[in-house]
Amino acid sequence: MEELLERLLEECRPYTAQGKLADYIPELAKGDISDLGIYVVRSDGKHYHAGSYKKNFTIQSVVKPILLLLTLMDNGVDYVRSKIGVEATGKPFDAINVTDQRLLSDHLNPMVNMGAIAMCTLVKGADYQERFHRLLELTRLLAGNPEIEVDEAVYLSEKRTGHKNRALAFLLKSSGMIEDDVEQVLDCYFRACSIKVSCKDLANIGYVLANRGKMPQTDQRIFPSQYAHYVNAILMTCGMYDGSGDFAVKVGVPAKSGVGGGIMAIVPTRMGIGIFSPALDSKGNSLAGIQVLERLSHKMYLSIF
Ligand code: GLN
Repeated sequence: MEELLERLLEECRPYTAQGKLADYIPELAKGDISDLGIYVVRSDGKHYHAGSYKKNFTIQSVVKPILLLLTLMDNGVDYVRSKIGVEATGKPFDAINVTDQRLLSDHLNPMVNMGAIAMCTLVKGADYQERFHRLLELTRLLAGNPEIEVDEAVYLSEKRTGHKNRALAFLLKSSGMIEDDVEQVLDCYFRACSIKVSCKDLANIGYVLANRGKMPQTDQRIFPSQYAHYVNAILMTCGMYDGSGDFAVKVGVPAKSGVGGGIMAIVPTRMGIGIFSPALDSKGNSLAGIQVLERLSHKMYLSIF
């Protein structure tokens, strides 16, 4: 397996030169475009890795499924579903999902920024600092890594420049979908996106979703299997934004990408996969990362279809 991963990385490495680092968050433009790493956690307890799998990067939108899990754990499916829709948007991550009609909860999606910003308000906590801390703690727990922290430089960089997200948050506020102070809600969202992880962390978190809420080895249940079904279904239809259909055809498993270059892929009952390669395609998805997953899926019959 390790040999297979090494070979796939070598085959896909040229694709890193075809992508672009995200530069709309200035700090992300400082990354190394040639990085490519993978980590796989399997249901038989075996771990495999290749390339820059140890390197840390910011989780960015891969935090959205964790945020969704926390809102489900705090409120249950019915309440979350009443506040945030689940329809595939076919739109980019920062889409302004409104027409001239009134903005409704069904226009939101947990995997698109507007929905994710709204989800921060559904997390329980006395203030947004506590809400964020609970999200960080859940991330650490799922990853089995108590050392996960925030990348302060990326956090400050996005907080300084994230005006489109501010616009989205004010739109939510003007539609009555955010009651709290917009800047505090956004602070929680920006911190969430700046959580620093490695491929290993993403593979471990993905594995708990693949294992329907139970931790590897101990089989300790962290959340009900119903929440894994909910999150994985949304990832299948929207996890790769307006590239989700193509990804479903080519790879065929639930996955979530982030503009930091991470992809977390979930092979239900079989494995969690973490990928890092910050060279992005035009949709903000890791270009070489998708190539690696496509090849791995063919070799190991991973597609659920
Ligand atoms: N922090 C990023 C943003 O909100 C996350 C986007 C992403 O990873 N696709 O713009």
